[in-house]
Amino acid sequence: MSALLIHGATVLTVNASDEVIADGAVLVEDGRIADIGPSAALLQRWPGVDRHDARGQVLLPGLVNLHLHSGLIRGTAEDMPVFAWLARHVDPKHRVLSADDAYAASRLCYAEALLSGTTTVLDMYRYMHRCADAAEQLGLRAVLAPYVADQPPYTYFETLEANARLVEERHGSAQGRVRVWFGLEHLTYCTEAAFREAARLAEHYGVGIHTHGEESREMASRLHAETGLWPIELFHERGILGPRTVLAHCVWLQPQEIEILARTGTSVAHCPVSNMKLASGICPVPELLDAGVAVGIGSDGVKENNNLDLLEEMKFVPLLQKVRLLDARAMPAPQVLRMATIDGARALGLDDEIGSLERGKKADLILVDFMRPHLTPVLHGAYGNVVSNLVYAARGSDVRLVMVDGQVLVRDGVLLRADVNELMRQAQQATEALIVRREPYVPTIEGC
Ligand SMILES: [Zn+2]
Repeated sequence: MSALLIHGATVLTVNASDEVIADGAVLVEDGRIADIGPSAALLQRWPGVDRHDARGQVLLPGLVNLHLHSGLIRGTAEDMPVFAWLARHVDPKHRVLSADDAYAASRLCYAEALLSGTTTVLDMYRYMHRCADAAEQLGLRAVLAPYVADQPPYTYFETLEANARLVEERHGSAQGRVRVWFGLEHLTYCTEAAFREAARLAEHYGVGIHTHGEESREMASRLHAETGLWPIELFHERGILGPRTVLAHCVWLQPQEIEILARTGTSVAHCPVSNMKLASGICPVPELLDAGVAVGIGSDGVKENNNLDLLEEMKFVPLLQKVRLLDARAMPAPQVLRMATIDGARALGLDDEIGSLERGKKADLILVDFMRPHLTPVLHGAYGNVVSNLVYAARGSDVRLVMVDGQVLVRDGVLLRADVNELMRQAQQATEALIVRREPYVPTIEGC
C-alpha cells in the first residue's frame, strides 16, 4: 500500500459541476484518488500519511493530447501549403524512417509532453512497438494508432496486418496504460477497402479508430466533386464512424457532416496551432459542442506545431473562436479546460477512469506552480481567476509535478524515468542521419 496526501493546492476537479476547491487536498492511494476535499478535513482524516505541500500550486487532472505525431523534424518544414509540405518533407521521411528513429522520436515527444503536463496521448506514428516501449519506460498513458496507408504510392507506410499484430501484442500492456487502436493516414492515402477492413478489425478487437478528418478546403471540395460525398459522409459510408472513433482536425464541415458526427458519437481532435500554421482554416468547435460532439485538443506533431505544450495550445482554442465569431463570449475558459481533460478522456473511452479529479478515478494529475509573476494574483470567490489564468497565461514550463496511475513521473519539473539529456542526444543523432537518408527522395516542388 502506498499513499500520498497532496494538500494546500487550488484544486480544479473538472467534475460535473466544475468544482474548484480553494485550499484543497487529494489523497492518492494505490494509484487511485481515495479522497478529495478541503485540506483541513483531509489532513485531519488521514494522519500519518506521507504529505506533499502544494501551497501556491494548482492541482488538476493530467492533460489529454488527443492528436499528436511523434517526430524528429521539428522546425525543418516551414511555411508551405499542406499538400506540398507533405510531398516535400513528410512523405520522403516516411520512406526511410526506421524503428530506432521511432523509439528516439517517441521518447523525445513523450518526455516533452510529460514535462508540460500531458499524461495521456493519442499518437499516430510508425513502428509503434517502439513507441509502446517508450511509453512503458516513461510511464505515461498512450493510445497508439499507426500510420496505415495502402493507396499507391504510399505503400511504404504501415499495414493493417502490422497494426493488428500490434493490437494483439501490446494492447493493454504496461498495466493497461498502453492501448492500441487502428490508424488510417487520410482519405487520399488509404483505399476504400482499407477503411472497411479497419472498421471490421476494430470491431473484432474491440478497439478504436483514429484518422485525419479534412484540414484542407480544396481537398474537401475535390473529394466532393469526385465522389458526390463530403469527407465525413465518405467516412460514414466506409463504416468507420462511431463512439470509438476520433477524427483529427475536421476544419471544413457541412451542417450535415456535423449532424453525422453527433448521431454516430464520433469525436473530434481540435488542433488550432496546426490549423493556423498550415493555413488550413478554423474548426467550428462551438457548433460541434452544441451538437453534442466530444471535442478534445491536440497539438498535432512537432513538424506542424512546433511544440507539444498543451497549456499553450489551450489558449488558441477560445481566441480563434472569438475572432471567427466576433463574439468575446465564445468558449469560456472552463469549457476549454474540459476539452483538454475530461472531453479528451471521453473521446478515448477513458472518462470513467481519468479526466477529472474524483474519488475512485485513477490518479493522473498535475501540479502547476502559480507562484510566478505571469500567474499573479490568485483570486477566489466573485473574482476567481485561476481557470482563466490556467488557460490564458500558464505555460508548460510551470508544471512541477506529474503523476500517472499514482506514480510520480515528473518532480520539481524534472523527468524521473529517463535522462532527458540522453534522450535529446539520441534524437539529435537520429534526426541528422534521417535527413541524410531522406535526401534522395526529396522532390523539387514548383514555387516552394
Ligand atoms: Zn496529424
